[in-house]
Amino acid sequence: MKTPAKRSYTSLRLVLGDQLNLQHSWYGTVDEKVLYVIAELRQETGYVKHHTQKLCAFFAAMKEFANALSVRGHEVLHLDLDDTATFDSLDDLIKNLCQRFDVTEFSYQQPDEYRLSEQLRQLQLPAMTAKCCVDTEHFLLPFDEIAEHFKPGKATRMEAFYRNMRRRLQILMDGNEPAGGRWNFDSENRNKLSKAAISELPAPLLFCNDVTEILNRLDRHKVERIGATRSSLPWPINRIQALELLQFFISHCLPNFGTYQDAMTAESPSDWSLYHSRLSFALNAKILHPREVVDHCVDVFEKSEAINLAQIEGFVRQIIGWREFIRGIYWRNMPDYQALNSLEAENALPDYFWTGNTNMRCMEKSIKNSLDYSYAHHIQRLMITGNFCLLTGIAPDEVDAWYLGIYIDALQWVELPNTRGMALHADGGIVGSKPYAAGGNYIKKMSDYCSSCHYDVKRKSGDGACPFNSLYWHFMARHQDRFRGNHRMRMLYGSWARMGEESQHAIIEQAEGYLKDLNSL
Ligand SMILES: Cc1cc2nc3c(=O)[nH]c(=O)nc-3n(C[C@H](O)[C@H](O)[C@H](O)COP(=O)(O)OP(=O)(O)OC[C@H]3O[C@@H](n4cnc5c(N)ncnc54)[C@H](O)[C@@H]3O)c2cc1C
Ligand code: SF4
Repeated sequence: MKTPAKRSYTSLRLVLGDQLNLQHSWYGTVDEKVLYVIAELRQETGYVKHHTQKLCAFFAAMKEFANALSVRGHEVLHLDLDDTATFDSLDDLIKNLCQRFDVTEFSYQQPDEYRLSEQLRQLQLPAMTAKCCVDTEHFLLPFDEIAEHFKPGKATRMEAFYRNMRRRLQILMDGNEPAGGRWNFDSENRNKLSKAAISELPAPLLFCNDVTEILNRLDRHKVERIGATRSSLPWPINRIQALELLQFFISHCLPNFGTYQDAMTAESPSDWSLYHSRLSFALNAKILHPREVVDHCVDVFEKSEAINLAQIEGFVRQIIGWREFIRGIYWRNMPDYQALNSLEAENALPDYFWTGNTNMRCMEKSIKNSLDYSYAHHIQRLMITGNFCLLTGIAPDEVDAWYLGIYIDALQWVELPNTRGMALHADGGIVGSKPYAAGGNYIKKMSDYCSSCHYDVKRKSGDGACPFNSLYWHFMARHQDRFRGNHRMRMLYGSWARMGEESQHAIIEQAEGYLKDLNSL
């Protein structure tokens, strides 16, 4: 343990691994009586099986943050897994430190995860130590205003929330009206990548952070994990790198972000990154503030011809819309939300989620990208792996555990509503008014995966028929009592009826064959 210079402090302040916000008001003044504690903990490496790169990114970023605080003159105690191995939990560690340093006040920032929030709320401290919780000063909608915008168990629509946020923050606004007269450019943001466009995809900016020591530590402490190990970590771990990635995104990706945000390809070394920002880790670890990200982007949009309104609006929507909306849904619905399973899905997650070894090209690419980089872009998460789990009725607990472990940016507040709500519709419609279900046609329209697939996307039944086709109709047929009355799904049920009994029977039989042995796909 690196013992700080002094033996006693008045205040101990805990900084969690996803609270690396150097701009927080805590750090505005240096107080030698305040000790900041940043600790790697076994409880955090073990609540789910994480991707190796995710563990390395958080631990490396925590160390960088501790160093940055020290350089500014703050008293900091950075503990690694070796130092904290003898403590059973965060509670034990904090109690021990409060006693050891004789503190009279323990403070922490409001955790974003319910699990940690409850743990710290219930934490019993020595009699002389007061406990205090402060805001993280990270989100654009303050924590105590969430209740005004979201109702527990009730559907809230993203679009209305997003428009409020645009007005509230005065981003891309002309007074009270949206800049350019439209709130939404979604219809212009659904392009497939042509061969020429694929050849122009930018190579992603990757960093080379040496994480050998962290890997050794993870081995020493027998931390179970998944995914490709890279001793040279490509993810940003401090503000300089995060700002460099933001700048790279603005220069090389933002001019095409909206146009290709739903596109997928298997035909380029950049097929995993495309025009996406890959800023989610830096944002979720709070290395970057969402307002600074949006302001930088809007500033360049206003000064440059290269970025049009459809591109910037597409990006702003993700940050001030989706990201804040998802957090609101989480906090207004926890803890019940984590147990919701409205479609009564109970199947086991197939083995290829851990290897990528499947004949379905779209699934192979999306899973292998995830294992290689601890990252997949939104449409792979939603319309490939998520859609597959929805159609095949995989138990939400298993799906959650996979998403929460594998992605570099996965923290429960953002993972859970996206997975259980948006992808699986297990929340019964709190996040989305209808399930994001799609057959092979959608995947063919938005990608080039099907042209190199073992399965035939044009076939719904028979040998080699694309599994997504029959599974899609099986899903719709088995849940028709629930969805037939949904006005957004009426046309679809009309098409199903027009197929006639014979075709319907063949499709259902095909899907049942697939469902019986999902591991063989
Ligand atoms: C099933 C599923 C699980 C997901 N799990 C996570 C997760 O654990 N952590 C996570 O940060 N995102 C999650 N997302 C949302 C989204 O896929 C990722 O934020 C995005 O892919 C991160 O890559 P990027 O930074 O390149 O994003 P970009 O495509 O560049 O988008 C920019 C930013 O917008 C925000 N954003 C966009 N969509 C969403 C969304 N639906 N919810 C919240 N923020 C959004 C993110 O901060 C992202 O960095 C999930 C989506 C799905 C469908
Ligand atoms: S044919 Fe079907 S399984 Fe194969 S890539 Fe296309 S959608 Fe996926």
